[in-house]
Parts: sequence; structure tokens; C-alpha cells
Amino acid sequence: MSRTNNRRRFIKKLSASSMIFGGALFSSCGSLKKATNKEYKKPLVISTWNNHEANQMAWDILNSGGAILDAIEKGIHIPENNPNDTSVGYGGRPDRDGFVTLDACMMDHLGNAGSVTFMSGFKNPISVARKVMEETPHVILSGIGAEEFAINQGFKRENLLTSDSEKALEEWKVKSKYAPVINSERHDTIGMIAIDRQGNLSGGCSTSGLAYKMRGRVGDSPIIGAGLFVDNDIGAATATGLGELVLKTLGTFLVVEFMRSGLTPQEACKRAVLRIADKYGGKDNQVGFIAIAKNGDYGGYSLQKGFQYIVHNSDKGVLFNSASFYS
Ligand code: ASP
Repeated sequence: MSRTNNRRRFIKKLSASSMIFGGALFSSCGSLKKATNKEYKKPLVISTWNNHEANQMAWDILNSGGAILDAIEKGIHIPENNPNDTSVGYGGRPDRDGFVTLDACMMDHLGNAGSVTFMSGFKNPISVARKVMEETPHVILSGIGAEEFAINQGFKRENLLTSDSEKALEEWKVKSKYAPVINSERHDTIGMIAIDRQGNLSGGCSTSGLAYKMRGRVGDSPIIGAGLFVDNDIGAATATGLGELVLKTLGTFLVVEFMRSGLTPQEACKRAVLRIADKYGGKDNQVGFIAIAKNGDYGGYSLQKGFQYIVHNSDKGVLFNSASFYS
């Protein structure tokens, strides 16, 4: 190839990457960590926060030859069924009117996706989301429609509001006077992504959303490209934290696109957090991303200190304290 052609290609590449990486913060964040051809250990399962039991369950299924979607679904059932996990499923904190409304989604290696939003009365929204993916021509079912679909699929309606949650709501109302608080409170949403032995990627995400949100509020977690995104040629990413910030930047789509441009998962998560910080500040909010690349490399990054993620690529899980933008 001639030098002129090489130069043209270089300039084209440069302008493409400056479009992707453009923004005030980019210039101050140093050199880019490019992915290499190295192959990492597979299978691998990662979840947001210290969802150790869930990740262990998924790992055990995947490592013993089970299907990746079964591993993710069964893993996510653990926090969904746990009344003491106040950000997911049964026992999730309600909205400000006392309704527990759930959001969840799944995406597989073929690019299939399903999600439920603003759904009440079912402990395992991840399973309903999987049914949306597998049994309907749609991607999202919401509210009453999602609930009717769940009944038709044989799911049992249950009360998800625990007495602890009811008590906490009453206490919250005293100070917060019915106003939703956008804050950096503890987030426990489970986002789980995995890669199997064959190198196929899938993911799931489940949450009761922000505690004491306005009725009808839907966060990032059930939105493909926001709370979860999988592109089997490139990688997978999932998010937790203040959903509004993740929605406005299509956070996990962005992470995967950064990996497509050649960044490691760690660096891609960092760039997506920098985008949020650049556009919105987010000084008092938390957002955390985790990602897996097609070669099995993985990483995570958050706005604030305190975000953790759990990784299994052997029988023993390893908990990581995420690096963060604000210290
Ligand atoms: N991302 C979730 C939401 O905004 C909350 C969380 O991660 O805790 O609904």
C-alpha cells in the first residue's frame, strides 16, 4: 500500500477515534490501553457488587457444562428471592407510593433481547424477561402488559413488599416529604455478564430501581444499551448506579463501542464513566460499569469509590474494589 493511502487510512482512523473519544476530559486522561490478542481464561462470570452467591451459582452451572442463559437466570434468582436484598426483587424498596416495581432484561450471544419494565407482583422478573426474549416477537413488555404476560406464562403473583420495606418507607417519608431523592445511596442492582467455553457472551440485569422513585419511573437496568449490552463479536457490559445518567449516555452500548475501537474492557468502562463525568458531573451520584471482552479479558470502573464487582473464572470468586473517577 502506498504511503499516501496509509496516511489517508491513518487520518480516517484518527478522526473516527476523536469522534468516539471527543470531550473535554479525554485530553487529560493519558494514553489509551489497547486490547491485545491474548486469550484469557474461560468460562467467566462477573456480577455487579458483592453478589457472591449469585455469581457462584452462575459459575457452578456454567462450569459444569450448563447453558449460559440458565446460569445467568438462576444466579440472578438469588438476590431476587432474598428479602434482605433491598434493591432487587422480593424485599426491594418500593416507590414513594409504596409499590414495588421491577425492571429486568436479558441479552444473548445471537443478539436476542427481552425485558420487562415497571412490573409488580412477580419475584423473578429476570425469568419473565427471558420469556419475553424467547416467546414473543418483542423486546420490552411493560406494566400491566408484562404482568398479564407473566400470568400467561405460568408465573405466580406474589406480594413483594416486606414489612421491613414498609417501615423504611414510612421513615423515609418523614424527612423526604414525598420527594424522590436523586442521591448516591447504596445500589445493589445485579448486572451479570458471562462468557462460556466457546467464547459466547450473554448477560442479565435485575433491579427494583431507585428506592422511593416516582410512580412509573423506569431506570437503565431493563433498557438494552443502557443497563446491559451484548455484542458477541466484541464483548458485553452491564451497569449499576443512578440509571438516569446511564440512560442519557447509553452507557453499556458505549462501553461495548469503546471495546470495538480496540480498548480493553477496563479502559472502555473508564472511558464511559469519563463521558458521564464530562457531560453531567455526577459528583454526588454513583455509576459503575463492568465488561467482558470477546477474548475473556474483563474490567470495571465507577464514578465514586465503593463500587465492587465479583469475578469467577475458577471455583473461588474474587471481589474487586473498582477504580473510580472521584476519589
Ligand atoms: N441502576 C438502577 C436504576 O437506576 C439502580 C441501581 O443500580 O441500584 O434503576
